[in-house]
Amino acid sequence: MRSSAGECKNKKVLIIGGGPAGLTAAYELGRAGIKSVVFEKDEILGGISRTIRYKDYLFDIGGHRFFTKVKAVEDLWKDVLGDAFLKRERLSRIYYNGKFFYYPLRMFNALFGLGIWSTVRVVASYLRARLKPIKPEETLDQWVTNRFGRRLFETFFKTYTEKVWGIPCQEISAAWAAQRIRGLSLMAALKNALLKPQNSGENNRHVIRTLIDEFFYPRLGPGMMWNAVADRARASGALIHTGADVRGIRWKGRTVEALEVAQDGREVVVAGTDVICSMPLAEAVAKFKPPLPEAIREAAGRLRYRDFLTVALVIKKRETFPDNWIYVHDPGVKVGRIQNFKNWSPDMVPDTEMTCLGLEYFCFEGDALWTAPDPDLIEMAKGEVVALGFAEPGDIIDGTVVRMPKAYPVYDSAGMKSLEVIRRFLGEFDNFHPVGRNGQHKYNNQDHSMVTGMRAAENVLGAHHDLWRVNEEPEYHEAIAPELGPEETLERVLAGSLAKMDTLAFAAALGSISALLVFLATIFLVIKGGTVVGPNLRLLGQYFIGYAVTVKGALIGSLYGFATGFIFGGLFSAFRNLMVRMFIYRTKKRAEIEKFKDFLDRY
Ligand SMILES: Cc1cc2nc3c(=O)[nH]c(=O)nc-3n(C[C@H](O)[C@H](O)[C@H](O)COP(=O)(O)OP(=O)(O)OC[C@H]3O[C@@H](n4cnc5c(N)ncnc54)[C@H](O)[C@@H]3O)c2cc1C
Repeated sequence: MRSSAGECKNKKVLIIGGGPAGLTAAYELGRAGIKSVVFEKDEILGGISRTIRYKDYLFDIGGHRFFTKVKAVEDLWKDVLGDAFLKRERLSRIYYNGKFFYYPLRMFNALFGLGIWSTVRVVASYLRARLKPIKPEETLDQWVTNRFGRRLFETFFKTYTEKVWGIPCQEISAAWAAQRIRGLSLMAALKNALLKPQNSGENNRHVIRTLIDEFFYPRLGPGMMWNAVADRARASGALIHTGADVRGIRWKGRTVEALEVAQDGREVVVAGTDVICSMPLAEAVAKFKPPLPEAIREAAGRLRYRDFLTVALVIKKRETFPDNWIYVHDPGVKVGRIQNFKNWSPDMVPDTEMTCLGLEYFCFEGDALWTAPDPDLIEMAKGEVVALGFAEPGDIIDGTVVRMPKAYPVYDSAGMKSLEVIRRFLGEFDNFHPVGRNGQHKYNNQDHSMVTGMRAAENVLGAHHDLWRVNEEPEYHEAIAPELGPEETLERVLAGSLAKMDTLAFAAALGSISALLVFLATIFLVIKGGTVVGPNLRLLGQYFIGYAVTVKGALIGSLYGFATGFIFGGLFSAFRNLMVRMFIYRTKKRAEIEKFKDFLDRY
């Protein structure tokens, strides 16, 4: 039930966090004429998707591609930035063993790059994996090896994944990998394979290629988008405070009543009717006043994160490499990925003779990398750029370090169980809306984070979206239609026609029909009578011993008919089930491999 216009007018929505989720919520509320106040603890907006400015060099945390399947999101981006929203071609490669390989992998490039001997070993290990997969499939290395062979796993997957997560692949569960390629809808793959036979492959590949090979990027980095969205929200009445740290969330019953906010050296209490929260969930739970039950606080304490730091180096060189970014699989250096910001947008550097590279290091808050002094980190990054052959020592003229805590929510099993506990508890609140990436402890990209903000704004207006289902179920990205649409009817028909056939029932049914047909045909001829009774049907006697065109023969014939029909029906049904199973298996594997293509991009 939607709230009445009068009720909505009296709303005052408090938004924690000025990243994509919080700002989108403010923008949407403004469009609906609802007042909101955004509290952002940092001095700049954009959250993890901010642009950092260092002496007129611009860079971002990780390189933020703007791509989405959600029309409302793409429309908003284009509307807000217009011509400053650049369409960019993507080029990215893996650096391994002194060589470059395109990523997503291209078969011939990968095989030729590896050399004949390695290629033979890659193919042999692939065949071994297909013929003798590891069972049970429990860990990430087993999961990937079973699909691509151990050699490919070790060459193109292992080192980078271990750099990102800081633990060996044997300690990451296979379920995590399966979860990462979730969104793969078997039904969609089946529909494509069955209903668009002539060009489905091409069509599908085109859509996937477009999503992978092109992306949008604001001329001055992602922060440009979030500053522009903030301006729009302000124009429709939102108040946006930076340097405003939310320290307490006051609640009573199942309602959040106010926020305690520290700003300009003083603390204020701001009351509101709803709270949209994009700060990390673990931190939010700890800020509830009075404290939430111990079980919930303990659960929040089990949510883990992987942190991240970028060393940006200014290099006196017009060109270093043509890629937007490079994955560094080489175990000899600590850097995981290198961004070339000039190739994201030429306006990210102030001088065309210069380049700015962002070296990305994955770490845990408080570990040796995280706590290393900035000059040491810059020296290390310089050494690695030189070792990788991208610059000479004399070319690197400046550098800076940016640390980003809680860049990646960790999906370990303790964390996932704890998340469920927190989710259930907070679900009982009538006016607290957790949104965004860390706000939901989920790998939400900008677009998913925005959709949570949009849906939260709609909930404030009286809708009842389950915000946790965004980025879990495709329909949550579009308008949610409660009735059965033609698509769903089609899916039901498809599911019905591909369902397993009951072999015994089908055999018995075909047997009974055959028995009845033989019986009726024989009786018909017997009743019809005449001098020569049923010359053709009598031939059945050559196969059905004891059969004749008589009443007794009709009974014997029906027994034969039943047996023949039963055997034929049983064989047909078993064969048909086998074929359907093989078809579904093949379609699923293909879709899985399509989804896996850009697996590394999802870190
Ligand atoms: C390395 C990396 C690369 C990425 N690449 C891409 C990409 O290519 N494309 C893409 O779409 N997405 C990408 N993402 C994901 C993207 O950054 C996030 O989806 C997005 O920033 C999440 O938005 P958000 O608003 O939920 O959270 P955030 O961006 O985390 O914003 C939350 C805000 O809340 C503020 N806050 C926290 N605590 C408080 C407090 N107590 N009081 C007030 N404010 C507070 C924070 O300062 C922050 O500004 C990438 C992420 C990483 C880490």
